Amino acid sequence: MTRDELLYYLGSVREGELYGLFKAADIVRRRYCGDEVHLRGIVEFSNYCVRNCLYCGLRRGNDKLRRYRMGVDEVYEVAKRAAGAGLKTIVLQSGEDPYYTLSELCEMVERIKGLDVAVTLSIGERSYQDYRALRLAGADRYLLKFETSDERLYALLKPDSSYANRFKCLEHLSSLGYQVGAGNMVGLPYQSLDSLADDILLFEELELDMVGIGPFIPHPDTPLGGFDCGKIVATLKVVALTRILTRNAHIPATTAVATVDPEGRRKALCCGANVVMPNVTPPVYASDYRIYPKRARWEDSVTKAKGLVCSLGRSVGRGYGDTLKERGRKEGFTPP
Ligand code: SAH
Ligand code: SF4
Repeated sequence: MTRDELLYYLGSVREGELYGLFKAADIVRRRYCGDEVHLRGIVEFSNYCVRNCLYCGLRRGNDKLRRYRMGVDEVYEVAKRAAGAGLKTIVLQSGEDPYYTLSELCEMVERIKGLDVAVTLSIGERSYQDYRALRLAGADRYLLKFETSDERLYALLKPDSSYANRFKCLEHLSSLGYQVGAGNMVGLPYQSLDSLADDILLFEELELDMVGIGPFIPHPDTPLGGFDCGKIVATLKVVALTRILTRNAHIPATTAVATVDPEGRRKALCCGANVVMPNVTPPVYASDYRIYPKRARWEDSVTKAKGLVCSLGRSVGRGYGDTLKERGRKEGFTPP
């Protein structure tokens, strides 16, 4: 698909045309990823953050948020329960929180790896040496969304961050043999269709193993609280187009999609997505991991996720759900 074609679909409001697009994405998903849906259990272990991203409720400037940190033992126990429920991937996510030492983070990864699961980290920008140590500790994958490919918009939304460094981090992660995920938000203030087309082209160009796509959801305790929420249809278009371009990247039906539409996860799974991320953070903490308000929450998230997958006539992935890209992580890989 050319950039013009991407733009055409991003701008289209014709129902029949969009139905065709979603159907095409579903066919591509089936051909390149099969009918397995992979479940990833996400543990949000700290909501402290040193950054001040304008869109996010965890930003350091938000003094209305009650903050928490889980200890290494506590994170391990939660991961153990999730592994016991059959999950084969644990995602560890947090704000950028320098409270944890590198060796504590490595210990967290190492112990969880002992549960026979894949470990994904989503803890923001760090040095090459940190990424290397965490990879050696056993981390398999890393999620670091670039949020928008529009450099000016990026600078506006992430005033204390560097666009160049974000991509440098993605490069480092890839060179260390991580399976790498990036992604964006759809419906950000001042975001153009052109930049959304560029986001999708960049997903393809970076040969990402995973792509996370979610609508922007305004948070009242942030500077962007007064802006409009990203639309479900716009988000589904980006999911579908990303599937068609990247073919076999793992694409989750995100919690953000479920937050703007109660049927959001099901819809995303029907137009390109092949991953669901049940939240296994203890409820006492999860309610304070308010990156945006009114986050969709399943009571018994693993059972609900399995139920959703089965109701679509698809099967729950039984392996680790590693990358489907050919240049995937080799066994016994030693980082440079
Ligand atoms: N601190 C790490 C990981 C936690 S934030 C990082 O920033 O990479 C995880 C994701 O939450 C971000 O990548 C962003 O895409 C999403 N997010 C934050 N605020 C949001 C909002 N208001 N609406 C939708 N998604 C949001
Ligand atoms: Fe921190 Fe990530 Fe939120 Fe930015 S998006 S404020 S880095 S948690």
